[in-house]
Amino acid sequence: SSLYGIDAWGHGLVNVLPDGNIGLSDPLNREAEPVSLPEIVRDLKDRGIATPIQLRVQSFLDYGLHRLCAAFGETIEQVGYKGVYRGVFPIKVNQQSEVVSRLVEVGQQYGYGLEAGSKPELIVALAQPLAKDSLIICNGVKDDEFIRLAILSRKLGFNTVIVLESLKEFEIVRRVSDEIGVKPMLGVRVKLTQTVTGKWEASSGDRSSFGLGTYEVVQLIDRLTETGFLDCLVLQHNHLGSQVPNVIDVRRTVTEATRFFVELRKMGVPLEYLDLGGGLGIDYTGENNSTDNSVNYSVEEYCTAIVETVGYAMDEAGLPHPTIVTESGRFVTALSSMLIFDVLDATYYDVPDKPAPREGDHHYMSDLVAVEGYLEPRRVQECYNDAVYYRDEIRALFRRGVVDLRQMGRAERAFLYTLARIAQVNREHPSSGDLDAQLEAYVDYYHCNFSLFQSLPDVWAIDQIHPVIPLQRHDEAPTRRAILTDITCDSDGKISHFVLEDGLHKALPVHDLRDDEDYLIGVFFVGAYQETLGDLHNLFGDANVVTIALDGEGGFSVEHETEGDSIAEVLSYVEYDPQDCLAAFRKRVDGAVARRDLSADERRVLISAYKDSLAGYTYFE
Ligand code: PLP
Repeated sequence: SSLYGIDAWGHGLVNVLPDGNIGLSDPLNREAEPVSLPEIVRDLKDRGIATPIQLRVQSFLDYGLHRLCAAFGETIEQVGYKGVYRGVFPIKVNQQSEVVSRLVEVGQQYGYGLEAGSKPELIVALAQPLAKDSLIICNGVKDDEFIRLAILSRKLGFNTVIVLESLKEFEIVRRVSDEIGVKPMLGVRVKLTQTVTGKWEASSGDRSSFGLGTYEVVQLIDRLTETGFLDCLVLQHNHLGSQVPNVIDVRRTVTEATRFFVELRKMGVPLEYLDLGGGLGIDYTGENNSTDNSVNYSVEEYCTAIVETVGYAMDEAGLPHPTIVTESGRFVTALSSMLIFDVLDATYYDVPDKPAPREGDHHYMSDLVAVEGYLEPRRVQECYNDAVYYRDEIRALFRRGVVDLRQMGRAERAFLYTLARIAQVNREHPSSGDLDAQLEAYVDYYHCNFSLFQSLPDVWAIDQIHPVIPLQRHDEAPTRRAILTDITCDSDGKISHFVLEDGLHKALPVHDLRDDEDYLIGVFFVGAYQETLGDLHNLFGDANVVTIALDGEGGFSVEHETEGDSIAEVLSYVEYDPQDCLAAFRKRVDGAVARRDLSADERRVLISAYKDSLAGYTYFE
């Protein structure tokens, strides 16, 4: 476990069992027996649920929500803050019905609400049995229909807040509200001038795309006063960004947010809620520092930074403590699920046997083969330089027609053989120069049964790092290092950043593949953003999604299963009619039968192969 740094990034949820398999531990029942992950996958396979599988663990999801709400609750008590915390879940972070309804159910005790950034998300929110004092926060661009629904929902007892993103939006609100005779609950999204660091720097500061600048805020207050809507403005919204790596940024930006809050209260705005948006990050790498995929704080420190800052500012201004709202979706859901896939095949970079030069081979071939003869720890960089030089010269000779294909093949193989020996000496006697970095390029490719674009879109789009580990054989030292390639025909479809105990690496330590074993790999903490941001590249559809509950005795139960897309479903997403495809194929087959190119038997086999594929999983089966 130490090689992969599981103790650092595993959040106590992932661990190594005595038999070398990866186990999952229940964070809400630490005494309980861990469950073997490869066992879970085998059991699911027996039930007909194939890899790739997106596996969600119910208690991991519950844990995220409990931790957030408990941390705010405890901090509020410790600091003597006189207001309360009312979190909302931003639906965009994981829209799956099962996730949203579970969070609503578990969140009842905390008055936990929802954030809707679009009309469809509002429709989802209005169908949930939210607790009486929970909020629905409406962000994003809103049309007449969106606003009408939001205002009308107040009649049903929902605390739906329309967060104004522009002055123009208020004019729609005013018109609709006058028409239906119901006053809205309003919020205003204020752009802070300070930015936060990290990947989402652009969503903070005065150049961010959403919200009102200072002058526009003043204009809005004047307009609300003129039209008699000032009483409706109860919430100030400031989104700090996502995955904020440094807690100092939270203190800085919240301090500025409180300045706006205090000034607005001084202008007579009856603000009750301070909504600080998203930002609470996850330590994906276990580094506990302020780099992009880590955070230098705990959830408790994050809460303290907010609660203390708001409390002090309000005390100084002589104002009551507002209800604190945050929209932390990543923190709540990220840990809850993992992607599990099998390795289908491997391309090994090294070769076990050295080809001997043949009669008539160019002398560079013998030079290349001779490198191994003077390989020793002191000369390892020299050997690497020579091998690359001779290999490149032979490639140049091939391009000029001097060396033929067979000789070139032997040379490439001799190069890989030599390189593997160099890498071995370098591992045993690490050198200080550039060699480590140079050798990192020469690793195996493990070809895996998943689509990066469908299941891990942020790994592709923004170099997100998730912990990735083999799920078995942790009692056996891995002998290889591999980049994981996916099943799409796109060279971008690969994972080549891994977190290990001693930092980030470009290859993952893995074991040799065995014929009698499904070699399983898990990508952890993919519960936030990954499920619906993905796309249909190469027409690979949704993976199978399974939610399990851990039973506390080393077993589990399947709570929910959503079968992944079939090929027919994926085809219909891109406007093919699967029946038309089948009819066209059948016509072609019948033509071949009529010409006697195919027998009746062959016709049956062909048609049923096509039909089976249409109905089947898009992944390797
Ligand atoms: N609220 C708003 C307005 C957002 O734009 C986002 C996403 O960036 C969030 C909340 C979610 O933030 P987080 O990624 O911290 O869960």
